[in-house]
Amino acid sequence: MRRWLPALIALGLAGCAAKSAVETVPPPRAYAHGIGGATFLIGGTFPPGRLPDGNSLILYGPGGALLIDSGRHAEHLTLIRQGFSGIGMTPVAIINTHWHLDHVSGNPALKAAFPDIKVYGTSAIDGALTGFLAKSAEASRKALAEGAIPAAAVPAVEGDLATIARGAELRPDVVVDESRDTAIAGRPLSLRVARNAVTERDLWIYDAAERRAIVGDLVTVPVPFLDTACPEGWLKALDEVAASGAEQVVPGHGPIMPIADFAIWRRAFVDFIACARGTGALEGCSAGWLTGAAKWIADDTPRARAMADYYGELIRSGKLDGYCRA
Ligand SMILES: [Zn+2]
Repeated sequence: MRRWLPALIALGLAGCAAKSAVETVPPPRAYAHGIGGATFLIGGTFPPGRLPDGNSLILYGPGGALLIDSGRHAEHLTLIRQGFSGIGMTPVAIINTHWHLDHVSGNPALKAAFPDIKVYGTSAIDGALTGFLAKSAEASRKALAEGAIPAAAVPAVEGDLATIARGAELRPDVVVDESRDTAIAGRPLSLRVARNAVTERDLWIYDAAERRAIVGDLVTVPVPFLDTACPEGWLKALDEVAASGAEQVVPGHGPIMPIADFAIWRRAFVDFIACARGTGALEGCSAGWLTGAAKWIADDTPRARAMADYYGELIRSGKLDGYCRA
């Protein structure tokens, strides 16, 4: 397993390797359950040994339906499509919170099925296609050629390679590099751009009518996914979410949080970053995270600890500092 760990790390999936090398079948889940305000959640999953899908949301308004994030696996895309047909609506737009493959991989298939779809996102994917994603594709191809990827994980790795090969199709039709209020599908939404946070530019959405912040991977469980992050920019973005007036936060991975829970998660994140930037033992930082975010980790503790150890080291080593200069 050690030999193919670099490929998984390059794909942003170090934590997968920490627990299991087997791509397992995800548990069944309900599709597109309503969360109020003409909004449906298609919950992402991250079972041990499987690459994650981020949460997706379907919102609808007078002008049709819009999707926030399109997942990675075909199964997740099926749930999204069932969600659209369930409400009897055609999607007119996709908003991508960021370019990680567990949030954008459904874009090409949806655009093929619904040619009028407009994709909203930041331009950060341009740098990712020539940088992080190109490098991770190279590492994956090498690992595949060497037979270093377990057979069960090969389809998922090949799926990501196919998505990266169609990278140009992941780029937004409407580039949103500055925060602005707009209406999409007739829904008034505030698009907020965070610089140098989870990626070089992340988009999060404030739905003022519902007092709901849809924040992508600015909030994730069982750990913050820091692979392409600037920790300090991320802290700043969380300050902005906290100041938005939101009463509810929809994370990129994990359950919806009332604002009090978001405050607990944010405190644990602030402490984890401060600890990893400090000089004490990194195991103590991981232990602090496991305690602070305990309510979202439960029986996933061994994997969360392994991932926290990995990300703590990534911060401590200075390897993420380049993402703060982008
Ligand atoms: Zn994600």
